[in-house]
Amino acid sequence: MKNGIAASRGIGIGSICRIIEHDLSFDAKMVTDTAAEKARFHKAIDEFVKDTNAKAEDIRRLIGEKEAEILLGHAVMISDPAMSGEMDKMIDSGQCAESALTAVCDMFIGMFSQLDDDMMRQRVSDIADVKVSILKILLGIEDVDISKVAPGTVLVCKDLTPSMTSQIVKENVTGIITEVGGKTSHSAILARALEIPAVLSVPGIVDEVKDKDTAIVDGTEGIVFINPEGDVLSKYMLKREEYIKRQAELDKFIGKETVNADGTKLELFCNIGTPKDAKKAIECDGEGIGLFRSEFLFMDNTHLPTEEEQFEAYKEAVETMGGKTVIIRTLDIGGDKDIPYLGLEKEENPFLGYRAVRYCLGNIDVYKTQLRAIVRASAFGKVKIMVPLVTTVSEVRSVKELVSEIKVELRAEGKAFDNDIEVGCMIETASASLIADLLAKEADFFSIGTNDLTQYTMSVDRGNSKVAYLYSTFQPSVLRSIQHIIKCGKEAGIPVGMCGEAAADPLMIPLLMSFGLDEYSVNPVLVLTARCIISKWSKEEADALTAKVMALNSEEEILAVLKEAVKE
Ligand code: PEP
Ligand code: MG
Repeated sequence: MKNGIAASRGIGIGSICRIIEHDLSFDAKMVTDTAAEKARFHKAIDEFVKDTNAKAEDIRRLIGEKEAEILLGHAVMISDPAMSGEMDKMIDSGQCAESALTAVCDMFIGMFSQLDDDMMRQRVSDIADVKVSILKILLGIEDVDISKVAPGTVLVCKDLTPSMTSQIVKENVTGIITEVGGKTSHSAILARALEIPAVLSVPGIVDEVKDKDTAIVDGTEGIVFINPEGDVLSKYMLKREEYIKRQAELDKFIGKETVNADGTKLELFCNIGTPKDAKKAIECDGEGIGLFRSEFLFMDNTHLPTEEEQFEAYKEAVETMGGKTVIIRTLDIGGDKDIPYLGLEKEENPFLGYRAVRYCLGNIDVYKTQLRAIVRASAFGKVKIMVPLVTTVSEVRSVKELVSEIKVELRAEGKAFDNDIEVGCMIETASASLIADLLAKEADFFSIGTNDLTQYTMSVDRGNSKVAYLYSTFQPSVLRSIQHIIKCGKEAGIPVGMCGEAAADPLMIPLLMSFGLDEYSVNPVLVLTARCIISKWSKEEADALTAKVMALNSEEEILAVLKEAVKE
């Protein structure tokens, strides 16, 4: 049995397929038969072009024209005489194909990196991709095609990147095990969205297992078994059936209001990353969007999305929600979310650096474009603006001033918008929590981002498995912080929500209810689970449990009491 971080609930049992990071080093030897070496090189290019065209066709069918074009561009690029001709010349002079490919690609990468142009900078990552793909062919390294794994597969890899996640066919992958990543890393969030049980941060797992080994992934408890004994396997098969049955029982909460055992109504919203996810929120019976992570619009792009492009995306989400609240969080980049074409400098401490609202207020053109698009989308439904990573009152004031300026501009341009659009802030830093009373006088609403609040309160990188033991929302300090934020919001008469992953945690829900949280924003697939848990707690019971918990000294003691009391 191995322990890791429980990142996506459920039990997965299946056959392992390892996704290995390959060593791409080679002997830079000189060749004498240059004609044969050139033939080997061109055979590799032909194979790459063929593969790329086939992949582009799949992507066109499954995702879209624009994404397919990016891949087709790779095939065109390598066939360009400016590149392959240069490589041929180097092979003619006796270099091996691997050296020629690497030298010419690196030369272009160096050249394009110097240019101050977003398109050219995007070319850098395209060339790097092409280089790696052709090197793999030359070195005879075969990558696993994640989109084609057999049904009943458990993926085992060092880290699950968003691009790997996008290839996963949900019906075929029954579990995911990785060596790194935390509960709130973006790969964990994507695994939950796909409803695939996942255990992250299992050290050394990739080297310890073989393809086709049997694995049990208990994504609820964060436990993994490799080639388990018969009795363990039978026990988990039963557990899996019970889990599936319990999920089916949740159906009786579809279409119901979210009320606690006393009948008090609470709001149950969804977290989404793209406008298309709004459909998922509706299908899963979400009552609104509590967090639209707008940065995915920027990350899934090769250029800064224009005002029109953003407006269309926000409008699509707002129209899909048909009058229900949509809280759009403004660009939250930095930390573990990079946008290559912005050309941000590498920083020593990216989580403490020039990110989110700090970047936005330093790049007013970028920010105003986004805010204009959001304010314009407010003409089509109930939109709210949410500011991430707030640490000072003046940040909120600056954003509000920008929004006021934008309203004047839009009015002059004759463009429609909701004049009462609210501006709220995320409370996800230690500073914001400590000045929550001051921020509550400026903001129209709060949303607690426990993923970061835990990180910044505990001074622990949310993705670092070495310190994951400290990363817990159940630490007394984090619980006190949450309680304080909600109290400040209530005293100022503004609504307080939570869009961090803790909002859906069965152990956390009674505490949040007792603290007085108004709105719970969760991954769409967890809406019914959260509604079911909320329905089981009365305020009196939640208060009694919370009084007990808040008097305890450690996370361990707190979890023990909560696990004893849990209602699932
Ligand atoms: C959070 O920090 O809790 C949050 C919801 O934002 P993100 O996970 O995108 O940083
Ligand atoms: Mg955050």
